[in-house]
Amino acid sequence: MLAGRQKRAGQLGQARSNRVRTAADVARRQRFATGNVARLRSDSHPLTNAAENDALHAYESRSKAAFDKIEPVLKEIAQYQHDNNFVVKAQELGRLLLSLELPSHLLENTWIAPLDMGKLYAWCVFETFQLFADEFYSEKPLAQKSDAGFQGFIESCGFHTLDFSPCADGRLAHTISYVLRLPYKGVRRKSYAGAMFDVEDSLQKWVEVEHKRLSESIPNSASEPTRYLKAAVYHYSSSLPDQEGCAAHGSDAVKAAEGAMSRLLAFQQGVQNSFCCGASIDLMLIGIDTDNDVIRIHCPDTNGNPDGENYIDAQEVYDATRHANPGDSERVISELIAQKNPAISSEFNKGLVKFMARLLFNNISQIDYVRNYFNGCYSDIGHQERFIGMGIGFEEVQLRNLTYFAYLKTVEQNAIDVDVGIMIFTGLNIKRGLPAPVVIRYDYHGNVPGARARAVAKVECLQQAMMARFPQQTQQGLIQTMLVVRDCSADNSIEVVGGSTQPGEVGGRH
Ligand SMILES: [Zn+2]
Repeated sequence: MLAGRQKRAGQLGQARSNRVRTAADVARRQRFATGNVARLRSDSHPLTNAAENDALHAYESRSKAAFDKIEPVLKEIAQYQHDNNFVVKAQELGRLLLSLELPSHLLENTWIAPLDMGKLYAWCVFETFQLFADEFYSEKPLAQKSDAGFQGFIESCGFHTLDFSPCADGRLAHTISYVLRLPYKGVRRKSYAGAMFDVEDSLQKWVEVEHKRLSESIPNSASEPTRYLKAAVYHYSSSLPDQEGCAAHGSDAVKAAEGAMSRLLAFQQGVQNSFCCGASIDLMLIGIDTDNDVIRIHCPDTNGNPDGENYIDAQEVYDATRHANPGDSERVISELIAQKNPAISSEFNKGLVKFMARLLFNNISQIDYVRNYFNGCYSDIGHQERFIGMGIGFEEVQLRNLTYFAYLKTVEQNAIDVDVGIMIFTGLNIKRGLPAPVVIRYDYHGNVPGARARAVAKVECLQQAMMARFPQQTQQGLIQTMLVVRDCSADNSIEVVGGSTQPGEVGGRH
């Protein structure tokens, strides 16, 4: 059943190669991949958590398989659409192969009008996403035993809050749980195209966090000398740097790093200018090679801010600690960081170095994850997202290339994030006549009166704005939507409140 998706990936790759790849690019990629495969045959790194890797891979594989079998199964179902007992046959196949009860309103009357396969496809993606989210909140497949001590660890590094903004690209959606191996509940994650995060949004979060520290001593008392850490995560592709880097920065890694850095500095300046009396935050700039998940962390300069040109690469750390004793790992990695930049050894940066060492240590497991399960380089080095997630929320999406995020409150204010998403899905789906499935989402706090009703109004409003921004695709049924809300105070799963694939809804061919 996966053959269709792989074939599709191959076709997409072929289409791209006709357009942008040169023979030199392909040769370079082959050399790159061959080198990794050769290294792969050796044993795993002594610092790698093999059991965690196995569990993460099992979760990733089965979650993605559920999405990837939709297209081949629907192709099979399509063959029977003119049969007398089509609805019965389609339901049988849906139950057997997708574990889904297909919607009768999309299966009936196929003797009059052709089956709306695009809408049925989107419905299956949405239903699969709902099952995926339900499992995430009920079974907690990514929870780790070590999560409980995480807040104590970050406070020992001098921080009380971690606020990360990766690029919205789906190839970074697993940044927290996989690439950096941090507990998703312990890190605020808000994704933006090009990691160009909303400074005002972060400022608002900072005020909220500091207020809670003052009034409730949560997560710790305001008298503790800890700081708010804001990190931006950009990305690049080492094998195809000019084609598979960050779409929002024209595939230019330097521009991606500079763009993210400019937002970090603006946020820091914003905090200092708005709240004097020594108020400040710490900054971190991280790059991810989306081919193999190797990170680079920019070293702090003498002011403690990330140095755009000086960074430590996790592959160097991986190689240098190849025979390290796990008990010495933190010291060895800290020494490597200090060698890289003497400015870093000052007392001022001690906590930051400790945190950097932890991230580099954790990334060693992820480097082996890609080496062991993907031959050292993902086969889908480009976009292969299964749907767009738009709005506020999506804590449950911690997997690579599953979702393109557009974190926004209004389509108009974050139009670039939405446009990049539709551009990506034009290449993945729309060009082939398949719709872009868009999950429109708004999380709310159920303890605030009227919050759910406002969240529902918000997703309806976002849906209208999407239809207005992309009228042609909407008219042709090439953008399909599902509207969901979630009470994030109750730790419940998502609640579906509407969408274009529901009976009698707009957003498709009629
Ligand atoms: Zn990007």
